Amino acid sequence: MSNYRTILMAVDLSEDSDTVAERALAIAHNNDAELHIIHVIEPLSFAYGGDIPMDFSGIQDEIHQQAEQQLAKFALKHGVDEAHRHVVLGRPEVEIHSLAEETGAGLIVVGSHGRYGLALIMGSTANGVLHGANCDVLAVRVG
Ligand code: AMP
Repeated sequence: MSNYRTILMAVDLSEDSDTVAERALAIAHNNDAELHIIHVIEPLSFAYGGDIPMDFSGIQDEIHQQAEQQLAKFALKHGVDEAHRHVVLGRPEVEIHSLAEETGAGLIVVGSHGRYGLALIMGSTANGVLHGANCDVLAVRVG
């Protein structure tokens, strides 16, 4: 079995993110792999664009800056290189797939809440990442 050379972990920066990071770091260590980390911000226009006729760019920039600071703190705590931190605007599944391709990741690590009932039918980020991924996906049980 070949080793993973590049691993991408996706974090929503909730308290569950430490669990995802610990698993990703252990695998990266065992494989001597490069570890990247991504946090995706969903544009406010996706949620309110059609309904509220206003310019969200100022608030969006503020959210971006806050996310970069939070991710920097999180990455520092887990020892992820500055050059391997990515804060991206878009839909999480789409951006995670896109960065996995860009970095040549052989494994994507995400958290999974093990939902059931309506929440399962509605889907989850882990499901979205699994469908359409061109590499392995590890869903770490969280929550
Ligand atoms: P969810 O299905 O939204 O509860 O999220 C499950 C997992 O998907 C999280 O633990 C993260 O690994 C990943 N994820 C969710 N939202 C984001 C996001 N905005 N950016 C990056 N990863 C995310």
